[in-house]
Amino acid sequence: AAKQSGRNQYAFFSPQMNQQLHQRIEVLQGVRTALEQGHFHLEYQPVLSLADGRIRGAEALLRWHHPEQGLISPGLFIPTIEDSDLIGPVTEWVACQAVQDLLQLQQLKPGFSISINISGAALHQDSTRDFLTELKQREQVPDNCLNVELTETSMIRHLDDCRQTLKQWKAAGMNIWIDDFGTGYSSLSYLHQLPIDGLKIDRSFIRELKPGSSNSLVATIMTLAESMNLYVVAEGIETADQRDCLARLGSCLGQGFGLHRPMPLSALQQLLEAENDTLAADVRSDTDSS
Ligand code: C2E
Ligand code: MG
Ligand code: MG
Ligand code: MG
Repeated sequence: AAKQSGRNQYAFFSPQMNQQLHQRIEVLQGVRTALEQGHFHLEYQPVLSLADGRIRGAEALLRWHHPEQGLISPGLFIPTIEDSDLIGPVTEWVACQAVQDLLQLQQLKPGFSISINISGAALHQDSTRDFLTELKQREQVPDNCLNVELTETSMIRHLDDCRQTLKQWKAAGMNIWIDDFGTGYSSLSYLHQLPIDGLKIDRSFIRELKPGSSNSLVATIMTLAESMNLYVVAEGIETADQRDCLARLGSCLGQGFGLHRPMPLSALQQLLEAENDTLAADVRSDTDSS
Protein backbone atom coordinates (compact mmCIF):
# COMPACT_ATOMS: atom_id res chain seq x y z
CA ALA A 1 0.00 0.00 0.00
CA ALA A 2 2.88 2.28 0.85
CA LYS A 3 4.40 1.67 -2.50
CA GLN A 4 1.09 2.36 -4.20
CA SER A 5 0.45 5.61 -2.41
CA GLY A 6 4.03 6.55 -3.11
CA ARG A 7 3.36 6.05 -6.76
CA ASN A 8 0.14 8.08 -6.49
CA GLN A 9 2.00 10.89 -4.90
CA TYR A 10 4.51 10.81 -7.66
CA ALA A 11 1.69 10.98 -10.19
CA PHE A 12 0.17 13.91 -8.32
CA PHE A 13 3.33 15.98 -8.24
CA SER A 14 4.38 15.50 -11.83
CA PRO A 15 7.62 17.27 -12.74
CA GLN A 16 5.55 19.83 -14.62
CA MET A 17 3.34 20.59 -11.62
CA ASN A 18 6.35 20.72 -9.42
CA GLN A 19 7.77 23.37 -11.68
CA GLN A 20 4.53 25.34 -11.67
CA LEU A 21 4.45 25.22 -7.90
CA HIS A 22 8.03 26.38 -7.79
CA GLN A 23 7.25 29.27 -10.14
CA ARG A 24 4.27 30.24 -8.05
CA ILE A 25 6.29 30.34 -4.86
CA GLU A 26 8.94 32.38 -6.64
CA VAL A 27 6.36 34.92 -7.84
CA LEU A 28 4.79 35.23 -4.39
CA GLN A 29 8.17 35.72 -2.75
CA GLY A 30 9.15 38.20 -5.44
CA VAL A 31 6.00 40.26 -4.99
CA ARG A 32 6.50 40.34 -1.24
CA THR A 33 10.05 41.62 -1.76
CA ALA A 34 8.84 44.12 -4.37
CA LEU A 35 6.38 45.59 -1.86
CA GLU A 36 9.04 45.80 0.84
CA GLN A 37 11.80 47.22 -1.35
CA GLY A 38 9.84 49.51 -3.63
CA HIS A 39 10.15 47.61 -6.92
CA PHE A 40 6.63 48.57 -7.95
CA HIS A 41 5.66 51.73 -9.72
CA LEU A 42 2.68 52.99 -11.67
CA GLU A 43 2.39 54.12 -15.25
CA TYR A 44 -0.50 56.19 -16.50
CA GLN A 45 -2.30 55.88 -19.81
CA PRO A 46 -4.23 59.05 -20.67
CA VAL A 47 -7.98 58.87 -21.34
CA LEU A 48 -9.07 61.46 -23.90
CA SER A 49 -12.35 63.00 -24.89
CA LEU A 50 -12.37 62.05 -28.58
CA ALA A 51 -14.56 65.02 -29.51
CA ASP A 52 -11.95 67.65 -28.60
CA GLY A 53 -8.84 65.53 -28.06
CA ARG A 54 -8.35 66.79 -24.52
CA ILE A 55 -7.11 64.64 -21.67
CA ARG A 56 -9.75 63.93 -19.03
CA GLY A 57 -8.01 61.39 -16.88
CA ALA A 58 -5.73 58.38 -16.87
CA GLU A 59 -5.67 54.70 -15.99
CA ALA A 60 -3.08 53.60 -13.44
CA LEU A 61 -1.22 50.47 -14.59
CA LEU A 62 1.01 48.53 -12.26
CA ARG A 63 4.66 47.91 -13.21
CA TRP A 64 7.04 45.55 -11.46
CA HIS A 65 10.69 46.27 -12.01
CA HIS A 66 12.39 43.03 -11.03
CA PRO A 67 16.08 43.52 -10.10
CA GLU A 68 17.20 40.57 -12.26
CA GLN A 69 14.36 39.83 -14.66
CA GLY A 70 13.54 43.41 -15.65
CA LEU A 71 10.03 44.64 -16.23
CA ILE A 72 7.30 42.10 -15.49
CA SER A 73 3.83 42.71 -16.93
CA PRO A 74 0.84 42.74 -14.53
CA GLY A 75 -0.89 40.20 -16.77
CA LEU A 76 1.83 37.75 -15.69
CA PHE A 77 1.78 38.16 -11.92
CA ILE A 78 -1.68 39.52 -10.96
CA PRO A 79 -3.37 36.16 -11.74
CA THR A 80 -0.78 34.39 -9.56
CA ILE A 81 -1.27 36.62 -6.53
CA GLU A 82 -5.08 36.72 -6.89
CA ASP A 83 -5.66 33.75 -4.61
CA SER A 84 -2.96 34.66 -2.13
CA ASP A 85 -2.89 37.07 0.80
CA LEU A 86 -0.82 39.46 -1.31
CA ILE A 87 -3.64 40.77 -3.49
CA GLY A 88 -4.89 43.01 -0.66
CA PRO A 89 -1.54 44.70 0.08
CA VAL A 90 -0.76 45.13 -3.65
CA THR A 91 -4.18 46.68 -4.33
CA GLU A 92 -3.73 49.01 -1.37
CA TRP A 93 -0.26 50.02 -2.54
CA VAL A 94 -1.66 50.87 -5.99
CA ALA A 95 -4.55 52.86 -4.50
CA CYS A 96 -2.30 54.89 -2.18
CA GLN A 97 0.19 55.73 -4.91
CA ALA A 98 -2.54 56.57 -7.44
CA VAL A 99 -4.33 58.89 -5.00
CA GLN A 100 -1.09 60.68 -4.14
CA ASP A 101 -0.37 61.17 -7.86
CA LEU A 102 -3.96 62.19 -8.54
CA LEU A 103 -3.78 65.04 -6.04
CA GLN A 104 -0.65 66.33 -7.81
CA LEU A 105 -2.19 66.01 -11.26
CA GLN A 106 -5.26 67.92 -10.14
CA GLN A 107 -3.07 70.93 -9.41
CA LEU A 108 -2.37 71.01 -13.14
CA LYS A 109 -5.87 70.08 -14.13
CA PRO A 110 -8.81 70.38 -11.73
CA GLY A 111 -11.33 67.58 -12.23
CA PHE A 112 -8.70 65.18 -13.57
CA SER A 113 -9.64 61.58 -12.78
CA ILE A 114 -7.65 58.40 -12.16
CA SER A 115 -8.85 54.82 -12.65
CA ILE A 116 -7.45 51.90 -10.72
CA ASN A 117 -7.97 48.22 -11.55
CA ILE A 118 -9.47 46.04 -8.86
CA SER A 119 -9.26 42.32 -9.45
CA GLY A 120 -12.02 39.92 -8.45
CA ALA A 121 -10.24 38.63 -5.37
CA ALA A 122 -9.67 42.13 -3.99
CA LEU A 123 -13.21 43.24 -4.80
CA HIS A 124 -14.60 40.67 -2.41
CA GLN A 125 -12.38 41.50 0.55
CA ASP A 126 -13.98 43.64 3.24
CA SER A 127 -10.60 45.06 4.21
CA THR A 128 -9.89 46.33 0.68
CA ARG A 129 -13.41 47.74 0.36
CA ASP A 130 -13.04 49.78 3.56
CA PHE A 131 -9.44 50.72 2.80
CA LEU A 132 -10.46 52.43 -0.45
CA THR A 133 -13.39 54.24 1.16
CA GLU A 134 -11.22 55.52 4.00
CA LEU A 135 -8.38 56.51 1.66
CA LYS A 136 -10.74 58.56 -0.48
CA GLN A 137 -12.08 60.36 2.57
CA ARG A 138 -8.81 60.79 4.44
CA GLU A 139 -7.02 62.29 1.42
CA GLN A 140 -10.06 64.41 0.58
CA VAL A 141 -10.12 63.28 -3.02
CA PRO A 142 -12.86 65.25 -4.79
CA ASP A 143 -15.93 63.23 -5.77
CA ASN A 144 -16.09 61.63 -9.22
CA CYS A 145 -12.31 61.73 -9.66
CA LEU A 146 -11.40 58.26 -8.40
CA ASN A 147 -12.69 55.43 -10.60
CA VAL A 148 -12.49 51.72 -9.94
CA GLU A 149 -12.35 49.35 -12.93
CA LEU A 150 -13.94 45.94 -12.43
CA THR A 151 -14.56 43.14 -14.88
CA GLU A 152 -18.00 41.66 -15.44
CA THR A 153 -16.87 38.21 -14.37
CA SER A 154 -15.50 39.41 -11.05
CA MET A 155 -18.75 41.18 -10.20
CA ILE A 156 -21.16 38.46 -11.24
CA ARG A 157 -19.49 35.82 -9.14
CA HIS A 158 -20.84 37.31 -5.91
CA LEU A 159 -23.52 39.70 -7.05
CA ASP A 160 -25.01 40.46 -3.63
CA ASP A 161 -21.69 41.19 -1.94
CA CYS A 162 -20.68 43.21 -4.93
CA ARG A 163 -23.79 45.37 -4.73
CA GLN A 164 -22.99 46.27 -1.12
CA THR A 165 -19.38 47.10 -1.94
CA LEU A 166 -20.27 49.24 -4.93
CA LYS A 167 -22.95 51.05 -2.95
CA GLN A 168 -20.40 51.94 -0.29
CA TRP A 169 -17.89 53.19 -2.87
CA LYS A 170 -20.57 55.20 -4.67
CA ALA A 171 -21.70 56.75 -1.41
CA ALA A 172 -18.09 57.76 -0.76
CA GLY A 173 -17.99 59.57 -4.14
CA MET A 174 -16.08 57.05 -6.22
CA ASN A 175 -17.12 56.00 -9.72
CA ILE A 176 -17.50 52.46 -11.03
CA TRP A 177 -16.41 51.38 -14.50
CA ILE A 178 -16.75 48.02 -16.16
CA ASP A 179 -13.44 46.96 -17.71
CA ASP A 180 -13.13 44.86 -20.88
CA PHE A 181 -16.87 45.24 -21.44
CA GLY A 182 -18.35 42.67 -23.78
CA THR A 183 -15.90 39.86 -23.07
CA GLY A 184 -17.07 38.47 -19.77
CA TYR A 185 -20.74 37.70 -19.49
CA SER A 186 -23.59 37.21 -21.89
CA SER A 187 -26.48 38.56 -19.83
CA LEU A 188 -26.77 42.30 -19.32
CA SER A 189 -29.27 42.18 -16.47
CA TYR A 190 -26.60 42.97 -13.92
CA LEU A 191 -26.30 46.45 -15.41
CA HIS A 192 -29.63 47.31 -13.78
CA GLN A 193 -28.65 45.75 -10.48
CA LEU A 194 -25.37 47.55 -9.86
CA PRO A 195 -24.54 51.26 -9.60
CA ILE A 196 -22.35 51.52 -12.70
CA ASP A 197 -21.04 54.80 -14.12
CA GLY A 198 -19.33 53.70 -17.30
CA LEU A 199 -18.29 50.97 -19.71
CA LYS A 200 -14.89 50.40 -21.22
CA ILE A 201 -15.42 48.68 -24.55
CA ASP A 202 -12.87 45.91 -24.85
CA ARG A 203 -10.02 46.28 -27.29
CA SER A 204 -11.16 43.25 -29.29
CA PHE A 205 -14.23 45.19 -30.50
CA ILE A 206 -12.26 48.34 -31.32
CA ARG A 207 -9.83 46.28 -33.39
CA GLU A 208 -12.73 45.18 -35.62
CA LEU A 209 -13.85 48.73 -36.51
CA LYS A 210 -13.78 49.30 -40.29
CA PRO A 211 -14.38 52.48 -42.27
CA GLY A 212 -17.47 52.07 -44.47
CA SER A 213 -18.96 49.39 -42.24
CA SER A 214 -21.90 49.96 -39.88
CA ASN A 215 -19.72 48.73 -37.01
CA SER A 216 -22.95 47.65 -35.42
CA LEU A 217 -21.49 45.91 -32.40
CA VAL A 218 -19.75 49.01 -31.07
CA ALA A 219 -22.69 51.15 -32.23
CA THR A 220 -25.04 48.99 -30.16
CA ILE A 221 -22.87 49.24 -27.05
CA MET A 222 -22.75 53.02 -27.43
CA THR A 223 -26.52 53.22 -27.81
CA LEU A 224 -27.00 51.00 -24.78
CA ALA A 225 -24.66 53.18 -22.72
CA GLU A 226 -26.43 56.33 -23.85
CA SER A 227 -29.84 54.96 -22.97
CA MET A 228 -28.59 54.02 -19.51
CA ASN A 229 -26.77 57.31 -19.04
CA LEU A 230 -23.36 55.67 -18.82
CA TYR A 231 -20.01 56.99 -19.95
CA VAL A 232 -18.11 55.01 -22.57
CA VAL A 233 -14.39 54.56 -23.05
CA ALA A 234 -13.14 52.86 -26.22
CA GLU A 235 -10.09 50.82 -25.17
CA GLY A 236 -7.11 49.98 -27.33
CA ILE A 237 -7.45 52.59 -30.08
CA GLU A 238 -4.42 52.06 -32.29
CA THR A 239 -5.21 53.62 -35.68
CA ALA A 240 -6.64 56.83 -37.14
CA ASP A 241 -9.27 54.69 -38.91
CA GLN A 242 -10.52 53.34 -35.60
CA ARG A 243 -10.67 56.85 -34.20
CA ASP A 244 -12.63 58.10 -37.25
CA CYS A 245 -15.10 55.21 -36.94
CA LEU A 246 -15.69 56.06 -33.28
CA ALA A 247 -16.19 59.75 -34.06
CA ARG A 248 -18.86 58.77 -36.57
CA LEU A 249 -20.64 56.55 -34.04
CA GLY A 250 -21.00 59.26 -31.40
CA SER A 251 -19.08 60.93 -28.66
CA CYS A 252 -17.03 58.91 -26.26
CA LEU A 253 -13.80 58.79 -24.37
CA GLY A 254 -10.84 56.88 -25.76
CA GLN A 255 -7.62 55.25 -24.72
CA GLY A 256 -5.01 53.38 -26.72
CA PHE A 257 -1.49 53.17 -28.06
CA GLY A 258 -2.59 55.28 -31.04
CA LEU A 259 -3.38 58.15 -28.66
CA HIS A 260 -0.85 57.69 -25.86
CA ARG A 261 1.06 54.76 -24.46
CA PRO A 262 1.21 54.27 -20.69
CA MET A 263 3.83 56.68 -19.27
CA PRO A 264 5.47 57.66 -16.00
CA LEU A 265 3.84 60.33 -13.86
CA SER A 266 6.39 62.98 -14.87
CA ALA A 267 5.60 62.48 -18.58
CA LEU A 268 1.89 62.83 -17.89
CA GLN A 269 2.53 66.04 -15.98
CA GLN A 270 4.47 67.42 -18.97
CA LEU A 271 1.64 66.44 -21.27
CA LEU A 272 -0.90 68.28 -19.12
CA GLU A 273 1.36 71.33 -18.92
CA ALA A 274 1.68 71.36 -22.70
CA GLU A 275 -2.10 71.07 -23.02
CA ASN A 276 -2.56 73.97 -20.62
CA ASP A 277 -0.15 76.08 -22.68
CA THR A 278 -2.04 75.29 -25.89
CA LEU A 279 -5.37 76.15 -24.31
CA ALA A 280 -3.95 79.44 -22.99
CA ALA A 281 -2.57 80.24 -26.45
CA ASP A 282 -5.99 79.49 -27.98
CA VAL A 283 -7.66 81.87 -25.56
CA ARG A 284 -5.10 84.57 -26.43
CA SER A 285 -5.56 84.22 -30.16
CA ASP A 286 -9.35 84.27 -29.70
CA THR A 287 -9.21 87.58 -27.83
CA ASP A 288 -6.71 89.01 -30.37
CA SER A 289 -8.94 88.32 -33.30
CA SER A 290 -12.14 89.64 -31.74
P1 C2E B 1 -6.67 46.51 -18.51
O1 C2E B 1 -7.15 47.06 -17.25
O2 C2E B 1 -7.68 46.20 -19.54
O3 C2E B 1 -5.61 47.58 -19.06
C1 C2E B 1 -5.37 47.86 -20.39
C2 C2E B 1 -4.16 47.10 -20.91
O4 C2E B 1 -4.10 47.24 -22.32
C3 C2E B 1 -2.82 47.64 -20.39
O5 C2E B 1 -1.90 46.56 -20.35
C4 C2E B 1 -2.43 48.62 -21.50
O6 C2E B 1 -1.04 48.88 -21.55
C5 C2E B 1 -2.91 47.86 -22.70
N1 C2E B 1 -3.24 48.74 -23.83
C6 C2E B 1 -3.67 50.01 -23.81
N2 C2E B 1 -3.86 50.49 -25.05
C7 C2E B 1 -3.54 49.49 -25.89
C8 C2E B 1 -3.53 49.37 -27.33
O7 C2E B 1 -3.86 50.28 -28.07
N3 C2E B 1 -3.14 48.16 -27.84
C9 C2E B 1 -2.75 47.13 -27.05
N4 C2E B 1 -2.37 46.00 -27.64
N5 C2E B 1 -2.77 47.21 -25.69
C10 C2E B 1 -3.15 48.37 -25.13
P2 C2E B 1 -1.05 46.18 -19.06
O8 C2E B 1 -0.56 47.44 -18.39
O9 C2E B 1 -0.06 45.16 -19.43
O10 C2E B 1 -2.12 45.55 -18.08
C11 C2E B 1 -2.75 44.33 -18.36
C12 C2E B 1 -3.84 44.05 -17.38
O11 C2E B 1 -3.31 43.83 -16.06
C13 C2E B 1 -4.84 45.18 -17.20
O12 C2E B 1 -5.79 45.18 -18.26
C14 C2E B 1 -5.44 44.85 -15.86
O13 C2E B 1 -6.42 43.86 -15.98
C15 C2E B 1 -4.25 44.26 -15.12
N6 C2E B 1 -3.67 45.30 -14.25
C16 C2E B 1 -2.84 46.33 -14.53
N7 C2E B 1 -2.56 47.07 -13.44
C17 C2E B 1 -3.25 46.50 -12.43
C18 C2E B 1 -3.40 46.81 -11.03
O14 C2E B 1 -2.87 47.79 -10.49
N8 C2E B 1 -4.21 45.96 -10.29
C19 C2E B 1 -4.85 44.90 -10.85
N9 C2E B 1 -5.63 44.14 -10.06
N10 C2E B 1 -4.74 44.62 -12.16
C20 C2E B 1 -3.96 45.38 -12.93
MG1 MG C 1 -8.38 48.53 -16.73
MG1 MG D 1 -9.40 46.93 -20.08
MG1 MG E 1 -7.82 43.73 -19.76
